[in-house]
Amino acid sequence: MHDNSYRVELAVSATSSGNLTPGQWPHDTATALGFAGRSNPLGFAVVRYLSAAPNATSVWAVIVHLASALVRRGYDGIKANEAAWQALDAWNDMRCPACSGRGVMNIEQRTCLKCAGTGQRDRSALSEAVRDGMSELMEAERKMERQLSARLKRDE
Ligand SMILES: [Zn+2]
Repeated sequence: MHDNSYRVELAVSATSSGNLTPGQWPHDTATALGFAGRSNPLGFAVVRYLSAAPNATSVWAVIVHLASALVRRGYDGIKANEAAWQALDAWNDMRCPACSGRGVMNIEQRTCLKCAGTGQRDRSALSEAVRDGMSELMEAERKMERQLSARLKRDE
């Protein structure tokens, strides 16, 4: 989860403080997060999850909202819950396992065949429910970024 701080930085890219410790967010960012969270509860859970040291509460918040999103896509509850955990895992590490995200193998820098040099995990190996879960997570995060930057721009 080494790139989490970078992703949180993206999610709250409109802040200038650079201090993203929970509880120490600038007031306007915290307010913007609160407003954005009302219409995007999964995105809110994702940002909280990314910004905090891993703890059961923030993980559960993501799982609950993600499983609900998958149920809305038509998966039954048990399948949705399983896929939510797997999707969160896969989303936490999207690096290609063959080349550890480098995109190249060995000293001659031969292009990694598993990921064709992209460095990204091959998602076609994951079940459809897990891929849908990852899409939900990525979309919620992107939406949160848009909501935050729109809101913080307006308040400037
Ligand atoms: Zn690779």
